[in-house]
Amino acid sequence: MVRSKEEIAKMRKAGRVVAEMIERVSEAARPGVRTEYLDRIARQVLEERGAKSNFLNYHGFPATICTSPNNMIVHGIPGKYKLKEGDILSIDCGAIVDGYHGDAAVTIPIGQVSEEAARLIEVTRESLWAGIRVLEAGRRLHEVGRAIQQVAEQAGFSVVREYVGHAIGTAMHEDPQVPNYWPGNPGPLIKEGNVFAIEPMVNLKGKETMLLDDGWSVVTADGGLSSHFEHTVAVTEDGPWVLTTP
Ligand code: MG
Ligand code: MG
Repeated sequence: MVRSKEEIAKMRKAGRVVAEMIERVSEAARPGVRTEYLDRIARQVLEERGAKSNFLNYHGFPATICTSPNNMIVHGIPGKYKLKEGDILSIDCGAIVDGYHGDAAVTIPIGQVSEEAARLIEVTRESLWAGIRVLEAGRRLHEVGRAIQQVAEQAGFSVVREYVGHAIGTAMHEDPQVPNYWPGNPGPLIKEGNVFAIEPMVNLKGKETMLLDDGWSVVTADGGLSSHFEHTVAVTEDGPWVLTTP
């Protein structure tokens, strides 16, 4: 799907709301805080900005954000879990403004974390930006995953296969998917006006995943830590434009 400049400007508006959600939720995420409280903060930002949630009721998802601590990779449901010193927490936020979607995630340390957890976070963030740098018209989409995988694996970590990035626009998840690894072929041509949510999920140990009984929470099969970062990015004539920064 190729989006006009007007459409991308609307997606930037949604992206700014998402950036504010991430900022305010991150500030509130400290030892002793329950993840359901973080969901309330995100809801409040949406209300203040007159934006709608694209997560709430998505295939029945019961909350406004995803909160995924430690060995949880993605899609954690905010609830009674109380954050503690040394946790790492993936916060995934989304918003709709004027019918256009934004989607972004960060992983943050809660208080002081282990050296290895801090390195996992840094490498995942770096892998996201390596993927973003690929988003130029004329290149091939699966180069994104190749770049992400290279950064993650060079650091000794592994990349999740079952969950991937996606095109985004008037729906949160549009085709094509954007794998975070090299799937064996170069994939579609990247065109000006394409908008993608790039979202590496990087595991400390093995890449295998497991779905919990709640039908949403995805965890690492071996119990190792996992980190997740995401931005919504438009392909412009001047290169990639990250729409979900403040
Ligand atoms: Mg997301
Ligand atoms: Mg996404």
